[in-house]
Amino acid sequence: MKTTLIIGAGGVSRVVVHKCVQNANVFGKIVLASRTKSKCDAIRAELPDADIETFALDADNTQEIIELINKVRADIVINVALPYQDLTIMDACIATKTDYLDTANYEHPDEAKFEYKLQWEKDKAFHEAGIMGLLGSGFDPGVTNVFCAYAQKHYFDEIHTIDILDCNAGDHGYPFATNFNPEINLREVSANGRYWENGQWIETKPMEIKMVWDYPEVGPKDSYLLYHEEMESLVKHIKGLKRIRFFMTFGESYLTHMQCLQNVGMLGIEPVEHNGQKIIPIEFLKTLLPDPASLGPRTKGKTNIGIVAEGVKDGKKKKIYIYQVSDHEACYKEVNSQAVSYTTGVPAMIGAKLMLEKVWYKTGVHNMEEFDPDPFMEELNKQGLPWKIQELE
Ligand code: NDP
Repeated sequence: MKTTLIIGAGGVSRVVVHKCVQNANVFGKIVLASRTKSKCDAIRAELPDADIETFALDADNTQEIIELINKVRADIVINVALPYQDLTIMDACIATKTDYLDTANYEHPDEAKFEYKLQWEKDKAFHEAGIMGLLGSGFDPGVTNVFCAYAQKHYFDEIHTIDILDCNAGDHGYPFATNFNPEINLREVSANGRYWENGQWIETKPMEIKMVWDYPEVGPKDSYLLYHEEMESLVKHIKGLKRIRFFMTFGESYLTHMQCLQNVGMLGIEPVEHNGQKIIPIEFLKTLLPDPASLGPRTKGKTNIGIVAEGVKDGKKKKIYIYQVSDHEACYKEVNSQAVSYTTGVPAMIGAKLMLEKVWYKTGVHNMEEFDPDPFMEELNKQGLPWKIQELE
């Protein structure tokens, strides 16, 4: 029987655990480890019939992770802690020759900067250890990369432009809250935007480029250009690409709150002196904001995330839209988490399932679009994330 080690016990982890238990024939025994063991125990308590063991683990400490992997004899590690832990967990996987999967690329805690460089550099060590690392198996990155690979495989000879369109039309009733880890979310949104055109990255001011997109089953929404990590790997792997951009929807209230917080320095990542103590403003803000995991029962509405690809097939121009719509309340009913965690946790489980089944398997460190998209697309339909395709004029 397999043993699956899941690291982290937040919103995404809850979904991964529920979904792995629904597919227990593949995942076997679940070991759930995180900084705060009580959070692991709370998730376990939701699944009393499942085979789940919990541990306290500091995933910033490679040696501690190595010891736990060896102790439980994990076959795969699903990293749904924070992006800060990616490298330490990857190192522990190399040392123990254990397959690895994550949903977000490495971010240095002291620099608001995320990129694949340091993770891609571990490719050689993963090959030498004879193991696989699958990077970014969430929704975006993750499913959006698979949508691009699917479009390339079935609809185009060459894709020229891709727009990734991420809409969360959920309403949690709070004046201001983030749907996933506030630190990661606010750092991403308050950073400069960036897109790729004709071989180079073009930088924009935060929220400088806006368009209105009519999201199926949601309606028209203001969508802002952001930098997002899947673009870094897609520009490497999609043939003939001339431009790729990423847009995310934000309501006016969210943007106004964020602007005020930024203006007063609450998004700062440098320590400041407060009553003889050093505090990091954005970490303090995280303490004040609602825990994303607590938004589940209050959130209503839908998410719609997809890609629009344009290019040529048999000499003719073509444009398609592949998207997935999730309903916050339906997700909560199934796994006690809202749709943002759901749409991340389900693809993490699917990626790990395909690795354990050796359907997607090659040694080294890989991004999602490097694999045959068909089995992943089939699993999305089966595991709660059905998608649609439209041909656009
Ligand atoms: P949460 O903040 O809800 O959960 C993170 C968990 O990691 C918490 O349980 C936290 O522990 C634990 N953790 C943090 N530091 C450590 C450490 N040093 N050792 C052990 N455990 C630690 O985040 P989410 O569940 O919302 O997100 C999880 C991941 O998913 C993130 O990397 C996020 O960027 C990614 N994500 C990816 C998306 C995608 O589409 N690709 C979309 C959304 C999220 P504690 O409870 O003690 O703080």
